[in-house]
Amino acid sequence: MLDKVKNAVSNISKIAVEKQISEKELDKVMENLTIELLESEIPFDLVEQISENIKKQMIDKKFARSDEFKEIIKSEFTSTIKKIFQKVEDVDLIQLINSKESKPFKILIVGINGSGKTTTVAKIGHLLKENNISSVIVAGDTFRSGAIEQIKEHADRLELKLISQKYGSDPAAVARDGVEYSKTHNIDAVIIDTSGRVQTNSNLMQEVLKIKNVVNPDFTVFIGDSLAGNDLVSQTHEFFKFTEFNGSILTKVDADVKGGAILSILSETGKPIIYIGTGQEYKDLEKFNEERFLSGLFQ
Ligand code: GDP
Repeated sequence: MLDKVKNAVSNISKIAVEKQISEKELDKVMENLTIELLESEIPFDLVEQISENIKKQMIDKKFARSDEFKEIIKSEFTSTIKKIFQKVEDVDLIQLINSKESKPFKILIVGINGSGKTTTVAKIGHLLKENNISSVIVAGDTFRSGAIEQIKEHADRLELKLISQKYGSDPAAVARDGVEYSKTHNIDAVIIDTSGRVQTNSNLMQEVLKIKNVVNPDFTVFIGDSLAGNDLVSQTHEFFKFTEFNGSILTKVDADVKGGAILSILSETGKPIIYIGTGQEYKDLEKFNEERFLSGLFQ
C-alpha cells in the first residue's frame, strides 16, 4: 500500500540532500509530492494540511543527510494520520455480539454491487463460526438475478442456514423472517445482506432504510471497495447520509497499491474500519491494525 507515496518521499529526499532549499525549489518539490498523494487517493483536505506543515518546517533549512529530510515528511505524515485515528472509536464486533444479552445480534450489510458484499457476508459468517457464535444469513438482495443462488452457495459451503424468499420479495420482510427464525432457534447473530445497484439510486436507499426501520439492526456495516477510487468517497458519503452506518469493511486491500481509501473512509465518516478484506477466501478478513498501517507507510 501507498507505494506511490513511498516513491515520492524517496525521490524528494534525493533532491534535498546537501543543499539549502529555496522557497521556489520547495514549491516545486511539494507540488510533486501533492500530486503523488492525491494519486494515492488520499483525501484532498489531508493532502493540503500535510503539505503546508511540511513546507513550514522545511523552508530555508539545510539538510546534511537525506534521512533528516525524510524524517520530517514521515513524522508530519504520521502525526496527521494519527490524529484521524484518534477520532475513531475502536470497535470489536465479536465483543459486541458476545456482550448483547437479548439474541440475536443483528448485522446489516450495505454497499454497492461488486464491492465484495456477498463474499464479505460469507467471511463474517465464517469468522463468527470460528468464534463459536451461531449465525444465519439473510438473502436480502431479492433484486439482482443470481444473487440468491450466489449467497446460497456460500451458506451451504459454510453450513449456515440461509433465510430467503423469491426474487421481487420485500427485502425488509425477508430480514424480519431472519430475525424471527433466529429468535425461535436461539441463534446468536443474523447477517443481513442487501441489494447493491448504484449509490445514487433513491429506491435503493429507501429499501435499505425500510430494512433498517423494520429490523432495527445492532450494527450496520458499509462495504467499501478499496479499488473504487474517487467513487468510494461518494459511495461512503451517500450510504453514511442515509444509513449512518456504525463501521465499515474495506475489501480487496490485498490488491490495493494506493492505500488512500482507508484514510478517505475514516476522515469522511469518523467511523471505524472494523475489518479489511485481504483475499478471496473466507479466512481473508483481518482486523484493521492502525499501528501496522502506520509502520508500513515508509518501509
Ligand atoms: P458483491 O456484488 O458486492 O456481492 O461482490 P462479490 O462478493 O460477488 O465480490 C466481487 C468480486 O470481488 C468477487 O470476485 C470476489 O471474489 C472479489 N473479492 C471480494 N472481496 C475480496 C478481497 O478482499 N480481495 C480480493 N482480492 N477479492 C475480493
